[in-house]
Amino acid sequence: MATSESWSDPERCPFCGARLASPGAGFVDHTAESPDCEAKFETWRDRISDDVTGGWSG
Ligand SMILES: [Zn+2]
Repeated sequence: MATSESWSDPERCPFCGARLASPGAGFVDHTAESPDCEAKFETWRDRISDDVTGGWSG
């Protein structure tokens, strides 16, 4: 869980450490080129949204 909720450097991919062309949008481009990072991002995002859903549903 250490890296799950804090994205310490938005200019770098949190999964492989690659420098992004731009924060945010650059990461989308990066995942298009790096299926491995995209898969990890999907897993991360699913886990976060599960947490949010669980937190708000009650
Ligand atoms: Zn990456």
